[in-house]
Amino acid sequence: DFASMDYIALGSRTYQYQLEGYDRQRVEAGQAHTANYTNLDPGDYTFKVWGRNRDGIWNTEPIVLHLTILPPWYLSLWAKVLAVLLLAGAVLLVIRLRTRSLLHQRDQLEEKVQHRTNELSVAKERAEHSEQVKQQFLANMSHEIRTPMNAIMGMTGILKRNEQLPEQRRYHDAIAQSSENLLVILNDILDLSKLEAGRVDLEKVPFDPRKVVDNVRAILRFKAEEKGIALNVEIGADVPVMLVGDPTRLNQILLNLAGNAVKFTERGSVIIRVKAGDLQQERCTLIVDVIDTGIGIPAERLAKVFEEFTQAYSDTTRKYGGTGLGLTISKRLAEMQGGNVSVTSDQGMGSTFTVTIPYEIALEDGAKIPYGPEISGPNKTLRDLRILLAEDNEFNAMVAQDELADAIPGVQVDLAVNGKVAVRMAETNDYDLILMDVQMPEMNGYDATRAIRALPGDKSRTPIIAMTANVMKEEVERCTEAGMDGFVPKPFKREELVDAISKAIK
Ligand code: ADP
Repeated sequence: DFASMDYIALGSRTYQYQLEGYDRQRVEAGQAHTANYTNLDPGDYTFKVWGRNRDGIWNTEPIVLHLTILPPWYLSLWAKVLAVLLLAGAVLLVIRLRTRSLLHQRDQLEEKVQHRTNELSVAKERAEHSEQVKQQFLANMSHEIRTPMNAIMGMTGILKRNEQLPEQRRYHDAIAQSSENLLVILNDILDLSKLEAGRVDLEKVPFDPRKVVDNVRAILRFKAEEKGIALNVEIGADVPVMLVGDPTRLNQILLNLAGNAVKFTERGSVIIRVKAGDLQQERCTLIVDVIDTGIGIPAERLAKVFEEFTQAYSDTTRKYGGTGLGLTISKRLAEMQGGNVSVTSDQGMGSTFTVTIPYEIALEDGAKIPYGPEISGPNKTLRDLRILLAEDNEFNAMVAQDELADAIPGVQVDLAVNGKVAVRMAETNDYDLILMDVQMPEMNGYDATRAIRALPGDKSRTPIIAMTANVMKEEVERCTEAGMDGFVPKPFKREELVDAISKAIK
């Protein structure tokens, strides 16, 4: 508020004012004698007022009022510095907390990963261990079952060769057939477990596919003849003379498929048709169709027959025997070699199983390795041999002695009930050959072989053939390592035994 000091003509007084630092020019206030300012920024201002008297004359010098608006505390420098510091502190704190929680999380994760890794390695160890135990168990079981099987099958064979009443013949046939079936199951289970353990090593040798197929035909011919069905082989002219691969596995697959075909066919024929597909200079795919006119497989069961322990009909085992493992094994063996087994079938009309396996083609002038057991006829050269039989199982000793006596005229067989006795007898007598069981009390077959190989003079060179119920590949290798010359798996067939003996003696 302001006023001029003139009390005469109140109505004619007027004013002007200016707040320097805020107003750009003077403000005409008229007769009003008030100026209002709100929200002035902090700083220094000068307020000037001019008055005009009734004669219309302005005073030359204004009234001056100096003003200082102080800043509020929060705009002061120290407050700003403090605020910046606080903000920085808060940001740092957040970063610290966040880092710490991340670190904590990381530690926890690391701990978890470590924990899982430990669990995993323990589980892996356990799995490996149980795999080993399983293998060992299978090897042992196979051995334990084979040993009595050898006695059963051997003695049945001997009984069958002797004179018998028709009634007895039926029973002997039944025992022989059942033992054969049991042996097939035993072999299938062993095969499957080896496949599952990834312990099947494939061979890569030159072989003649025609020989493999002929071998399959030779083995199944009698059964087909017995059933009155034809078993024919058709081999395409373009099938190479020699391939490179694993003939044993091919033989196993074909034997299985053709065996099934004969088994499930009552009338008509079984044809094994071999073709070469995808023929190139160095390789081709062998395609084998096994075609039968048998009972066939219903469409909805087709895919299932390749599953383990699966058969097309629930009464298959009762009517035809078998376990439902053969096709599983065949398919896996083919797949291992980059091939496959497939099937088409018309129920009641017949089935066609097709194996395809890619092979390299061998150069024809390359080493020709014949395939298949050479069917050796009655062996004329074997006679008057003196044989040492090391065998702890009384029944198996009986079987071997009888078979030898029957197969080799004038043979003399001495029995040693364990390895130690065998070494002593080999030392004091002259034998043409030693048949050595592997698992024996006192001293096993390996050690006995090594001891005999260490004897002085000619005795160390006596041919030794292993006779063992353990048919795992490692066993064969161990026998060879110990210095044995041959290997006959138990249960043995007489021909196998004679064949091995004549090969060892030469
Ligand atoms: P197994 O012959 O021991 O029963 P496989 O695995 O060899 O086992 O065969 C499985 C099933 O597939 C057989 O039980 C049978 O039902 C069916 N099968 C296999 N081959 C033939 C075939 N040629 N004709 C009809 N059925 C077959």
